[in-house]
Amino acid sequence: MISVEEALEKILGYIAVLEPEEKHVLDCLGQVAAEDIHSPIDVPPLDNAGMDGYAVRAESIAGASEKNPQPLKVIGEVPAGTVSKGKVGRGEAMSIMTGAAVPEGADTIVPFEDTDGQERHRSGVSLSGVNIRRALPLGKNIRLAGEDIRSGDLLVSKGAVLRPQEIGVLASIGRARLKVIRRPVVAILATGDELVDIDKPLPFGKIHNSNTYTLATQVQRYGGIPRVMGIAPDDMKELSRRIQEGLDSDMLITSGGVSQGYYDVVKEVLAREGEVAFWTVRMKPGKPLAFGVFRGGKAAGRKGGVPHLGVPGNPVSSMIVFELFARPAILKMMGKQNFVKPTIRAVMEDGIKNEDGRRIFARVIATRRDGRYFARTTGGQGSGILTSMVKANGLAIVPEEMVEVKPGDSLNVMMLDWGEE
Ligand code: AMP
Ligand code: MG
Repeated sequence: MISVEEALEKILGYIAVLEPEEKHVLDCLGQVAAEDIHSPIDVPPLDNAGMDGYAVRAESIAGASEKNPQPLKVIGEVPAGTVSKGKVGRGEAMSIMTGAAVPEGADTIVPFEDTDGQERHRSGVSLSGVNIRRALPLGKNIRLAGEDIRSGDLLVSKGAVLRPQEIGVLASIGRARLKVIRRPVVAILATGDELVDIDKPLPFGKIHNSNTYTLATQVQRYGGIPRVMGIAPDDMKELSRRIQEGLDSDMLITSGGVSQGYYDVVKEVLAREGEVAFWTVRMKPGKPLAFGVFRGGKAAGRKGGVPHLGVPGNPVSSMIVFELFARPAILKMMGKQNFVKPTIRAVMEDGIKNEDGRRIFARVIATRRDGRYFARTTGGQGSGILTSMVKANGLAIVPEEMVEVKPGDSLNVMMLDWGEE
């Protein structure tokens, strides 16, 4: 048996970062920048008004107060998006809207609230003058050219994950397209003679194929593009043919057929056609795991071959093995470097027995009370009980050497959901 860490390290050793593609910024959320991006311009490009009000010279309003308002002559108006040709002199003002370029001569913006400008507007009194009711320091309410971004600044570094704020910054410099590491296409093939697809009636003795759908949406969740390949029977020849079909993807995930049963043929096919390792990973659920790389056939054209992860058929094992091994592989292909799910320390509210020295990933619901986290298992922990995943928001990790978890013990909980929904 090998540890979870050893298995992950071996898998990642075969995974390469994919090549870049150029795309529109709107299609890049969550992808990794494949180039450094410097700004060609200052943002904002000009000094501009931070509030609606009057552009003045600070010296003109030095003595202004509520009791002693300072009258100024209004010589023009600057709506947002326009540039005034006029010049503001001593004793003068121009009405100005947020975002408009500060006119020449002005050095301070007085907000409407500190003037009688709006009262004049409402009452129809002459707008050729205004009373300023407050003195302001020079430069107040002016946003300076380049205060956000200076021409030449490095805004997005190669390797950065693009979040909405990076996309916004790129938009603010007028950048519509950029190079990002492309998303991996992950082929998903379910195996098992007992499986029936979800749009077919269920004959006695069969079950619906659920793993394909869980795995496909897990792939999507972490940024990959799933390629659903349906169900392959437990038959060497047919399985081998179907696996070949999946080898023009960046990774292949099969479910089922990796344990000790008479019909667990994924193992056999892999042993014959791929470079393969079968591992018994010291974890529960999800002990049997196959990992290999296909280099021949359709995979021959793909640099380094096509990695294949064979997850166990039991639905919970399949999901958890994906989280632990396929998710980091997808993230690595996308150029990401952080493979760790958010983890909290929680006080267990019920007990867990660890009978065979494996690392247990127990389905729990974690809650926060009085500034502490608590976690409780979500009922039946059999690896076929998929509804216990529905009830869970995390996996409590019982270390290999911990024989028994008692209520009140603290465990790390790997959170499956963390504010993404
Ligand atoms: P296996 O790993 O092929 O021995 O399968 C282990 C268990 O998981 C069996 O009870 C299978 O019926 C079940 N199983 C395998 N594949 C799937 C699937 N795609 N969807 C739901 N259950 C599955
Ligand atoms: Mg099977």
